[in-house]
Amino acid sequence: MTAIRRLPETIVNRIAAGEVVERPAAAVKELVENSIDAGASRIEVVVRDGGRSLIAVTDDGCGMGRDELAMAVERHATSKLPDDDLWHIATLGFRGEALPSIGAVSRLALTSRTGDDAHAWSLTIDAGRVGAVEPAAHPPGTRVEVRDLFYATPARLRFLKATATELGHITDAVHRLAMAHPTVAFQVSDGARTPVKLPAVAGDGAQARLERLAAVMGRAFSDNALPIDAEREGISVTGFAGLPTLNRTTTAQQFLFVNGRAVRDRLLYGAVRGAYQDVLAGGRHPLVALFLDIAPELVDVNVHPTKAEVRFRDAGLVRGLIVAALRHALAGAGHRAATSVADAAIAAVRTDGVASGRTMTYRFPAPRPRLSRGLAEQAAPFHAPLFGGSATPPASPEPASPDGHDPAAAYPLGAARAQVHGTYVIAQTADGIVIVDQHAAHERLVQERIKAALAAGGVPRQGLLIPEVVELEDAAADRIAGRADELAELGLLIERFGPGAVLVREVPALLVEVDAAGLVRDLADDMVEVGEALSLKDRLGDVSARMACHSSVRAGRRLNIAEMNALLRDMEATPLAGQCSHGRPTYVELRLADIERLFGRR
Ligand code: ADP
Ligand code: MG
Repeated sequence: MTAIRRLPETIVNRIAAGEVVERPAAAVKELVENSIDAGASRIEVVVRDGGRSLIAVTDDGCGMGRDELAMAVERHATSKLPDDDLWHIATLGFRGEALPSIGAVSRLALTSRTGDDAHAWSLTIDAGRVGAVEPAAHPPGTRVEVRDLFYATPARLRFLKATATELGHITDAVHRLAMAHPTVAFQVSDGARTPVKLPAVAGDGAQARLERLAAVMGRAFSDNALPIDAEREGISVTGFAGLPTLNRTTTAQQFLFVNGRAVRDRLLYGAVRGAYQDVLAGGRHPLVALFLDIAPELVDVNVHPTKAEVRFRDAGLVRGLIVAALRHALAGAGHRAATSVADAAIAAVRTDGVASGRTMTYRFPAPRPRLSRGLAEQAAPFHAPLFGGSATPPASPEPASPDGHDPAAAYPLGAARAQVHGTYVIAQTADGIVIVDQHAAHERLVQERIKAALAAGGVPRQGLLIPEVVELEDAAADRIAGRADELAELGLLIERFGPGAVLVREVPALLVEVDAAGLVRDLADDMVEVGEALSLKDRLGDVSARMACHSSVRAGRRLNIAEMNALLRDMEATPLAGQCSHGRPTYVELRLADIERLFGRR
């Protein structure tokens, strides 16, 4: 074993950089935070190659004098902890790690001038080698240039994603900071485009904040947002929450701030989910921007080098406050939580995923209801496979015969009788009734057909008469255009159409009256969650659910009896049609015996 020794400063800083600067966006975040801490009113970010070859952040903040500049690049040197008190952090920075870490893995140049100095000073660091402080020309404020980030740590360089992806992360990081600082003007450009251009908003009230949120999250949010304002035991939550009908497939549009710092916190996401659970289907997420203000001693921000996580002294209190504030706002908007009776009824027919998994050996698995204890005994009949786990449905539909023979008896899912609430198909079977959730069922059918088509060599496409232009945020357009080849295999032919838009040329032929714009937007959202590691085929369930969702048999469309019967026959012929891809049942069967029991006849 070799002797124990102290690591050289350069190595220590590179190790820290591994934590603090995960990717270019993290460097941008640290530098912009410094500008905000310096009291800047304008912050401009210029990047090249997704931040790989250049990140330049210019601000009009307080600047640094000659000696401060030299100190700034030393490890653990900071102007932000004047009382050495980690429990009263009022700034975004406090660790004194960002500049030395970035300087350890790049070519860093700092130029800065205070309001009092006659000229600026500059300093460079090249892979940890600090140069001399020299006079320079620059207006009051600071300019930080990072060139060739990670050139000193090639391993990290190899982990970087496509330029558009890195730029998307940078945009996201600046957006989050901008939401919490509406009076500061922000701009991000990469030479070709300017994905962030946010003028300063006048005033500091809720209206000013909403204006900035609208600029970042879109008009649809500000037009459909409810103001949030609640306080409990010295903790306050303010901000805006979207109406449930405005929802997305991921939490990407949920922005949570603690004392002006954007955080990604499970507790907070969980509280949002909890508040909306009665008014929003599982798998859909509301848009929110919530700002929590809490006495610094009640929250620890020193949890992680990137400062994106926090710990609350009383997590239950925070969660309760957020849930109550959101529920109050939603109730005020005229939305009512489901009554306890409705809850019980839903619980009585809800399948649980594990149990239904066990029935998958049946060609046509029956949903397994989860009943409250009092109803347990009535549950038994539900647990039997739908038709003894045996018979294949008749090969061709039989027309109703005048001799009184009921065609319903011939099919496991019976004969369609009616559609109610534009969502449920009611069918009569030989010994009961079946209620089909047409949306869930259709989703399942689309998935199975896409799977079959893929196995047979590709999903047939159908050209749109007039190709549809779909406008998106730039990053979303890049994301979806980047997977055009995969989407084409799945039947969706798109191409990039200038900045912030894609063109849809062909859609999967098996989708009827597809809403191409809605589909493309949702898919772009989904891709944040899929990430780049998984192929879309690996996530086929989600993709096809999305497609089904935007074609016409979704909930709300009127079906005639023939269409309903076709749906039932399709379900019978499709493997695993008893539940949708998220484990919810696609139909519920009530046998006459069960119905009679409900009415006390047995
Ligand atoms: P921290 O922000 O945690 O203090 P940094 O390494 O990011 O650590 O910055 C070190 C110090 O450099 C800061 O405390 C601040 O005094 C100074 N500094 C950095 N960036 C700027 C800037 N844009 N304007 C003025 N001072 C800055
Ligand atoms: Mg800092």
